[in-house]
Order: sequence, then structure tokens, then C-alpha cells
Amino acid sequence: MAPSISGLHHVTATVAEADPDAQFYTRLLGLRLVKRTVNFDDPGAYHLYYGDERGRPSTLMTTFPYAGKGVREGTKGAGQITVTSFSVPPGSLEFWRRRLAAREMPFTEETDRFGEPSLMLEDPSGLNIELLEGAADPRAPWIAPDIESDAAIRGVHGVTLVVRRARESVRFATEVLGLEVVEQAGRRTRLSGRNRRPGSYLEVLESDRAPDAVNGIGTVHHVALAVAGDEEQSAFRERLQTMGYQVTDVRDRQYFRSIYFREPGGILYEIATEGPGFTLDEDLSELGEELKLPAWEEKNRDAIEAALPPILFDSG
Ligand code: ZN
Repeated sequence: MAPSISGLHHVTATVAEADPDAQFYTRLLGLRLVKRTVNFDDPGAYHLYYGDERGRPSTLMTTFPYAGKGVREGTKGAGQITVTSFSVPPGSLEFWRRRLAAREMPFTEETDRFGEPSLMLEDPSGLNIELLEGAADPRAPWIAPDIESDAAIRGVHGVTLVVRRARESVRFATEVLGLEVVEQAGRRTRLSGRNRRPGSYLEVLESDRAPDAVNGIGTVHHVALAVAGDEEQSAFRERLQTMGYQVTDVRDRQYFRSIYFREPGGILYEIATEGPGFTLDEDLSELGEELKLPAWEEKNRDAIEAALPPILFDSG
């Protein structure tokens, strides 16, 4: 059987300061901090994971806080993911309008999402974050203290990829990754993995006016797509190589295993395994409470902890 992508695994962005980032995604949006670790490729910076109760694939937003570490501000543009959309239940946008207004957080109403209404706001680092009322979403939400189940975020809905030539990016997504086109309107094409529901969408938006993207603080670094396990991942890796694309070796990310490659529009993709998941080194009830390091970094723990800023917020 051909390997297949079920949907999104996670979205990863480069952000400014850790504490406001954690406050925004947990206190305001109501996600759970499910892992506090370091960037495995650069352990001087955090890697924070936000998601549902256990950080299931497709619910995960992850950030690298790089304030004060010499990383430039990025530019959102072509060759990048410019919007991360979260799925909220039908009828809940009024709750979110009131919640944002009460905190004096500016937002705009969006109307070009295949008829699905949404609000757009910026996170503390300037990332475009959208709350979108889409189709029925069966994912059980994490319930934060002041957000009821009928308004709580179900997970990521999808991401918007801005490219110069949609045709090439859509062809890559369908022919190489096996995604399907589910809707098309104007210059926006919605693709889906096998699950065909919120949490499996990639939207390719063609733009000749957007600036060229520059990677840096306030921009999305990559999007990860989910496969069941190692066999499917290695089948995709072989397929990419056979078709002449550059792809990395399998990297051990502790909570999943990953390969990385660029699609023709310049966007960095990852294919990540669903497991083993975030309860690998913490109990479900204690996820995100302590700084977790991969075994190969434990010998450096003192130096790593000294270099990381405190996260003051209380995850409870
Ligand atoms: Zn990733």
C-alpha cells in the first residue's frame, strides 16, 4: 500500500520571548503546554509545544523563542507559511471576539476562507494566528479554566502557504505527498491529508505581490505532516530521493522521528511519526511542567538551564 499522510502533525515558528509566548498560547488561546524542551539542533534555545491534553498530532503549535540570541526579525512572504489557523466550534466566534476585546487585542474578520468565518490576530511575536469556525471537528479539546468546551480550540485547522506559482506547489503536494485538492477559489487551493477534516489542511495561496520571505523571529519555520510510523516515513523518504528531491536523514526528536525537505515554492516541510508521543518522559498529568532534555544533552543540563530565561507563568 502506498504510504499516506493523515494530516498535520505540528507547526513550528521562531518567536521572540518565551514567557509572553507561553502566556498567549496557554492563557489566551487555552492550549496546554505539553512539553518544555530545547531546540535539539541548538540547545541554547527552548522548544515549547502547545496542544491538546496529550499533544496529539494535528493539535500542536510549537515555538523556538529566540529573543536576545542574535536572530533577526523575519519577513512574512512568498516561500513561507504566513498564517496558522486554529479550529474553533461553530458559533464560538462571538465568545472569541469578546475575549479578545476584553484584553484589548486587535483582530480582523476574514471572509475568504471558503465561506468559513474567522478572526485574525497577531501573537506577541507578530505571527498571524487565525481562529476559524470550520466543519465539525471531532477532536476533544483541552479545557482551560475559563474557556468552555463549546468554544475551546480543537487543534490546528490548517496553514496557509504563500508561493509564487501555486501550480508547482499543488502538484508536489498531490503527486509526491499524496494530498488531495478539496476546494479551490481564486488563488487559494485547499489540500487535505487522508483525514479530510480540520487538522489535515494545507492551503496554497498564490501571490505575486508578497515580498520574498525571510526566515527569523515572527515567522513560521516549517510545517510537519503526520505519518503513522517509521515504515511510511521511510517510504516517503525513498520516494523523495527517487524523484530527485533533497531530503534529510531521519532525525530523532524524542517524541517523534522526522525528515525534512523543501517543496518547489521554498517552504520547509517535515514528515513526522505519530509516536512515541509526549508521555515518553513525563506522566500525562505533569506534561510541560519540567524542562526535559534528550538523553544526549543531560550532561549539559546545568549550562543549558543557565542560558534559558525563566518561564514565569503557571501552567496550572
Ligand atoms: Zn518540526
